[in-house]
Amino acid sequence: MKTPYWLLEEHLLEQNLKTLAHIKEQTGVKILLALKGYALWQSFPMVSKYLDGCCASGLHEAKLSDEKFQKELHTYSPAFKEEDIEEIAKISHHLVFNSPSQLERFSDLAKSYNPSISIGIRVNPEYSESPVELYNPCGVYSRLGTTVENFGILLKSEMLDKLDGLHFHALCEQDSTALENVLKAFEEKFGKHLNAMKWVNFGGGHHITRKGYDIEKLISIIKSFQSRYPHLQIYLEPGEAVGWETGTLVTSVLDIVHNGIDIAILDTSAEAHMPDTIIMPYRADIRNSAKAGEKKHTYRLAGNTCLAGDVMGDYSFDKPLKIGDNVIFEDQMHYTMVKATTFNGVPLPSIAIKRLDGSVEIVKEFGYEDFRDRLS
Ligand SMILES: *Cc1c(COP(=O)(O)O)cnc(C)c1O
Repeated sequence: MKTPYWLLEEHLLEQNLKTLAHIKEQTGVKILLALKGYALWQSFPMVSKYLDGCCASGLHEAKLSDEKFQKELHTYSPAFKEEDIEEIAKISHHLVFNSPSQLERFSDLAKSYNPSISIGIRVNPEYSESPVELYNPCGVYSRLGTTVENFGILLKSEMLDKLDGLHFHALCEQDSTALENVLKAFEEKFGKHLNAMKWVNFGGGHHITRKGYDIEKLISIIKSFQSRYPHLQIYLEPGEAVGWETGTLVTSVLDIVHNGIDIAILDTSAEAHMPDTIIMPYRADIRNSAKAGEKKHTYRLAGNTCLAGDVMGDYSFDKPLKIGDNVIFEDQMHYTMVKATTFNGVPLPSIAIKRLDGSVEIVKEFGYEDFRDRLS
C-alpha cells in the first residue's frame, strides 16, 4: 500500500466502544461522539451501534452527523450565524448556546423551525485542571461558556424558562477525579437551576479509554449526581476517548541526510498531518523505537515540507533506517485527519480501515485536485 496512510483498526475501535457502552449500561448516561476529535465516517456504522449520537460544533459537523450517523444530534457553537440556524435547527435534537445574547437572538427562531428542539446553554464553571492553557476552556478571559455572573442576565429576564438543559466542557485528557472537582464547582454555581432542567451535559475530555482511567469512579460520580437530580438525563460527549489508540499513521523514509546528526525525511509532515505534536505539543510514539540514544541508531525524524520546524523528534532504532523503510506513528486517529492540511502541497495521507475480519480497505485517497480545489 502506498504511504502515507492512516490505518484504523476496527477491533481496537470496538474495544473502546464496548468500554463506553459499559458506562452507559451501568448508569443510564447517554454518550455522544464529539466530531471535532474524530469524524472518520466510514467507521460510523460501528460507532453508532454503541453510542447515542454526535455532538457537532456548527453546520458542517451537524450535517455530517445527520447524513452519516443518524442518531441524536446536539449542536453547540461558540457563536452561531443567523443564516445557519434554520438548517441546524431542522436536523438537531439539542441546540446549545454559548451566551445569553445568542440564546435571546436565536432560541425562538430555532423553535420556529423545529418545535421539539431542546434548548440549552453552555456554562463556564470557572474551574479546570486542564494541563495546557491552549486547551483550557475555563482559563482567564475564556469566551467559552457563560460565567455565573453573566448567567445573572438570564435570571432578570424570561429567558431562563427557555432552557431545558445546561452544558459544560472543562476537561482535557483527564481522569474522573478532575470531573469530580469540576462538578463540585458546577453545582456550587449552577446547582440551584438544575431542578428546572431536563438534562445536563458533562462535555468531553474524559480520557475514559486510556489505561489507568478510573472507570469505576466515573460510574460512582455519575450515580451520586443522579441520586441528587434523578430527573436529569446526563450526557457525556468524548471525542478523543473514542479514537484513542485505535490506529496508526504509516509513513516511509524518503531520504537520510547528515548535518551534525542523522536526519530521516519522511513522506509525512508533523505540521500538516499531526499538528498537535507541534501545538499541544506532544511526542508521538513510533513503533519499535525508543528515545534518542537508547537504541543503537538515533535519527531526527522530519517532515517533507520546507518548514524548518517540521520535526517529529529524535528517535532511536535497533537497526539503521534505510530509504523505503516504514515508520509507523502510533495512536493517530483522533485530532489528526480532522485537522490535516495540504500545507506546502504535501499530499494528504490516504485513509484505510482494517476490518474485523482482518481485511484492509482503502476508503479514501487524495490527489492533486484536493490541493488545487481548496485554493480557488
Ligand atoms: C472538544 C470538545 C469535546 C470533545 O473533547 P475530547 O477532549 O476530544 O473528548 C466535547 N465537547 C466540546 C464542547 C468540545 O469543545
